[in-house]
Amino acid sequence: MTKRYHIPEPLTLIHPRSLKHLSFELQSLVKGQLWLKIMIGMFLGIIVGLVLGPSTGLVDQTVSYTIGEWLALPGYIFLALLQMIVVPLVFASIIRGIASGEDMEQLKLIGLRTVAYFLATTAIAILIGLTLALIINPGSYISSELVQSTMGSEITQVNEISTTTPGIADVPGMVTNILPTNPLGSLATGQMLQVVVFSVIIGLALVSISPAQSKPLLDLMGSLQEVSMTVVRWSMLLAPFAVFGLISKFTLNLGVAALMGMLVYVGTVLLGLLLLLAFYLLVVFIVSRRGPIDFMRSIRDVLLLAFSTSSSAVVMPLSIKTAEDKLGVRPSISQFVIPLGATINMNGTALYQSIAAVFLAQVFGVELGFGALLLLMVTVVGASIGTPSTPGVGIVILALILSNVGIPTAGIALIIGVDRILDMCRTSVNVTGDLVTCVIMDKWVGGKKPAMQERFEHSKRETERNVLGEDVLVNSHDA
Ligand code: ASP
Repeated sequence: MTKRYHIPEPLTLIHPRSLKHLSFELQSLVKGQLWLKIMIGMFLGIIVGLVLGPSTGLVDQTVSYTIGEWLALPGYIFLALLQMIVVPLVFASIIRGIASGEDMEQLKLIGLRTVAYFLATTAIAILIGLTLALIINPGSYISSELVQSTMGSEITQVNEISTTTPGIADVPGMVTNILPTNPLGSLATGQMLQVVVFSVIIGLALVSISPAQSKPLLDLMGSLQEVSMTVVRWSMLLAPFAVFGLISKFTLNLGVAALMGMLVYVGTVLLGLLLLLAFYLLVVFIVSRRGPIDFMRSIRDVLLLAFSTSSSAVVMPLSIKTAEDKLGVRPSISQFVIPLGATINMNGTALYQSIAAVFLAQVFGVELGFGALLLLMVTVVGASIGTPSTPGVGIVILALILSNVGIPTAGIALIIGVDRILDMCRTSVNVTGDLVTCVIMDKWVGGKKPAMQERFEHSKRETERNVLGEDVLVNSHDA
């Protein structure tokens, strides 16, 4: 009689260490009250901007422009460091996240459901944004002097809105466009959607080959994560100075009157973000019976850090830790959902981009009919997915959205002055969205083993890793 051998799936044999172990540094930032330092930086930035700005007349305009640029230097360095690091961090984290799955079946289920859920909630966020912007009409509160003073002669001509929505014949071409034919090019130019697709394909291939072959690459990805988080740690030293410098530069250049003129716009975005947050809290309550206060208290540290850093990517280790330790989510779910969500699930950004687009259309008198609004919606879904999870990029990507729907991109000059604070708030909402997704997927997808057992096995492996000095464990006893 021949004996049958069961060959286990490679995925069940490899266990990379979770990104969670890099959350220590981030927690010390929270303990060191980074958020307070940021708020102080912001406050001082406004004061300095006010004193040296056009309203007091203390310094002449060219000098104040030069001062503004120098004050903003730490901010430029801070933004550049984070933008430099986001692609390797996201690339490595998605691959290792896939390798943390329990088995292929779970991975398939979670992948499909997470992406469907991301698309649905992004559409909801955009609908909230568009409805608010159309009801409140923030563009009507802007005086023409303000438009003149911020954009001067730059006001460009309003283009014809092209409402040609893609036909069914264009879909195959669009799908293939998402596949990076030149992956290094996509990595180099930060094409986030293509980076995600590339990482997912590499991750899936990696967990389909023998662990002996996949281990070296997984180890390398682990080093890449550590290196990236080290650069993040360095850049965080600059964060309060960065916020101070950037805020003073904008207050200096635009003047307080211009910033005050934007209050209705800022209020509309903040109201939209609050409504989206309320929607999340409702979903969490329905799915897990967890009350809003309890949920907010559990995620408080991540929110403060997202607010201080304006980057969903930077807070990933702490988000994973919070999902597992405070929200009771399975490690196999949180380690997959958080890196993917931090990159493609940006509902706060989508909401902001739709309000900003409608606001600028109102300022420029561009009529947005039903077709244009539909086009705007589709464009914002794609744009928010493609927005890198670093500070201040939501507004950069907004320029693409504007030109797609025929709104002059010069309008960016009007809203950039108040973008720092909006970026901080939308990043907190983006991160909340990822944590809510974890809770939902934990219920909706689950795993073969009970969550408690999964967590217990994870901490057992962590001890084993420390003893062996290994980052990726292969074929531990439970395989
Ligand atoms: N800073 C945001 C994030 O990392 C992206 C944006 O600029 O909207 O989530």
